[in-house]
Amino acid sequence: MATRDAVCSCGQLQLTAEGDPIRISMCHCLACQRRTGSAFGIQARFTSDRVRVVGRHSDYMRTSDEGEERTFHFCPACGATVFYTLSTVPDVVAVPTGAFAEPSFPPPTVSVFESRRHPWLAMTATMEHHD
Ligand SMILES: [Zn+2]
Ligand SMILES: [Zn+2]
Repeated sequence: MATRDAVCSCGQLQLTAEGDPIRISMCHCLACQRRTGSAFGIQARFTSDRVRVVGRHSDYMRTSDEGEERTFHFCPACGATVFYTLSTVPDVVAVPTGAFAEPSFPPPTVSVFESRRHPWLAMTATMEHHD
């Protein structure tokens, strides 16, 4: 079974995920833009029993527009978010795919909050689209 390591910028916070993700999505919402410093967020979900975390992390909880609590877990030394959890799906862990630093990572299959999409961004992968 494929095993992948997601690591923060300084390397002290590490997450190992076994097997393929159950969902890969990109999100254009403004909160993801602020969190990532990029034009969109991209993340892969794994069931929590397939994920192991080593290292220290700080936690930041924010409530989404839909009223869902999301808790972001990031390295206190370098600030990189390595995983987050969602109150509505407690058995799932989401990992920003950039933390895997793997250009061959499978593409997203769902794109959400396209109403906030930067208009120059062309999406070539085949996926579901949601405003
Ligand atoms: Zn770090
Ligand atoms: Zn978002």
